[in-house]
Amino acid sequence: MRIKKGIPVSPGVAICRAVVLDAIDAPIPRRSVPSSQIPAELERLNQALARSEKDIQLQRQQAEAKLGAEMAKIFDSHVGLIRDKSLIDQFHLMIEKEKVTAEYAVYWVMQHQAKLFRQMENRYMRERVLDIWDLERRIIGHLIGNHQTTLSELQGEAIIIAHDLTPSQTASLDRRRIKGIATDAGGRTSHTAILAHAQSIPAIVGLEDITSQVSTGDTLIIDANNGQVIINPDAAELLEYRQYIERMDLLGTDLDELATLPAQTVDGTLINLYANIEFPVEIDGALAKGATGVGLYRTEFLFMASETEPSQELQYQNYLEAIKRLDGRPLTIRTLDLGADKLAPGDYIPAQENNPFLGCRSIRLCLQNLKLFKTQLRAILRASASGPMRIMFPLISSIMELRQAKMILSDVMEDLEDEGLPFDRKIPVGIMVEVPSAAIQAKTLAKEVDFFSIGTNDLIQYTIAVDRGNERIASLYSSGHPAVIQLVKDIVRAANRAKIEVSICGEMAGEPEFVMLLLGLGLRSLSITPPAVPEVKRVIRSVSISQCQRLARKVGAMESDREVINFVRDELRKVLPEIYRDRRFES
Ligand code: PEP
Ligand code: MG
Repeated sequence: MRIKKGIPVSPGVAICRAVVLDAIDAPIPRRSVPSSQIPAELERLNQALARSEKDIQLQRQQAEAKLGAEMAKIFDSHVGLIRDKSLIDQFHLMIEKEKVTAEYAVYWVMQHQAKLFRQMENRYMRERVLDIWDLERRIIGHLIGNHQTTLSELQGEAIIIAHDLTPSQTASLDRRRIKGIATDAGGRTSHTAILAHAQSIPAIVGLEDITSQVSTGDTLIIDANNGQVIINPDAAELLEYRQYIERMDLLGTDLDELATLPAQTVDGTLINLYANIEFPVEIDGALAKGATGVGLYRTEFLFMASETEPSQELQYQNYLEAIKRLDGRPLTIRTLDLGADKLAPGDYIPAQENNPFLGCRSIRLCLQNLKLFKTQLRAILRASASGPMRIMFPLISSIMELRQAKMILSDVMEDLEDEGLPFDRKIPVGIMVEVPSAAIQAKTLAKEVDFFSIGTNDLIQYTIAVDRGNERIASLYSSGHPAVIQLVKDIVRAANRAKIEVSICGEMAGEPEFVMLLLGLGLRSLSITPPAVPEVKRVIRSVSISQCQRLARKVGAMESDREVINFVRDELRKVLPEIYRDRRFES
């Protein structure tokens, strides 16, 4: 049994046999062609390009039907590339001057392009290298009949092991049979990661050498909740994970019945249980799971999935779609949180920074790119005429920053008024409290906003100084750290005193063991990832507020995160022993 750790990009756990795919860049041998055959070679190339474009258009339509319009846009860049005259000229030149086969010309030129992309300063562009490979394989497939591995043709269930998957491959996966994805390469924001997440396929990337550690037929456990792949697990490990999956499945069926019941504690306190989403298409699923609104719409994902900056109209259409799908339920829309690990096209994201997480990201980036910011605010405000919406600024770290953001919002409102365009003049304006300085100054900030949403993902990383994406120090990243809990408590108190609403939208809110603590600290709105809604609702329906307050008081006196975590888990186990009894929950 071996364990490999990587970067989890789409949560879930599965046990299945491995299917290892061939290396993505299998070389094409150089073969010469006589001069007389060059026109025929050029013709072969043109036909392959035309067929490839047809394929892409088809795949685009399929992706649109399966995953929505935003996801389908990923393939627009492939169409753009395949029509790129300079690229086609390079293929032609190579065939004519070097007198080589069309497949070698495509291989050589695309390898060269990939190298250029890999050397780019802009990290977003570097991750686009997979799109180049995707296209290369497609064209070569048409030239030599060696079609790229069509995953849809795979027999039986499998966990896919690959050096990397192209966006096309990932979009064509059949969720019912592909139980997981584990790759050597890949980053958190690659198109492959986004597409895996959108399809709820457990995925771990950046495993470095998983393709050489695993052979087809090996049994694997992919635990994408914890970013690990267990290769040929022993009997005890298998049993433990089987029980875990069984319990989760059972819980899932069981919990589906909870969808229509209120998220209400046993003493009758109603808790708002909202969903965190990246794309409007996720809303139907979130509502089906029992969410009653959206507490965090991460609008930057539209930018991350697009090849060019989304127009105001496109943004507006997306926000409108979210409103329509919510059908009167509340929508909290967060302005762009780009930068650091969230990369997108465009030159407004700094190419090189020593500390991107402390750099020009999120609201800072928007305040330095007013055109970008105003365009989004305009789209949001226009959409606010069509349904209940709240606007939220991320990463606020000082009152001046908040005032500046609000001033720009007012400017945009004035513009719309001048133009006679409808919008909600009273749209509630709030902030994410996710920087320690904002948490410490919560009392001051509360006077100037309508609501707070606590972003524990960043609050934890900035409070403990632990990069949330760094595997080597992942054990230090802890929702149970007493300093984090103290800050959450202070934020809630400041909000309550100022009589503004406070919710929490970091991952911590979706972890069942922390639900009682959060309720005990005074939170009444939780915004969580949609799959976690039923489980969290069950915990809410099993506890009383006074019980949670007692728990929170005890936690307040604790000194270490271990102590806190062991305690909240024990308490949850007492409340729902049939569910939380097993060892996995103790680790
Ligand atoms: C957070 O930081 O807690 C949060 C919800 O936002 P994101 O994960 O998008 O940074
Ligand atoms: Mg954040």
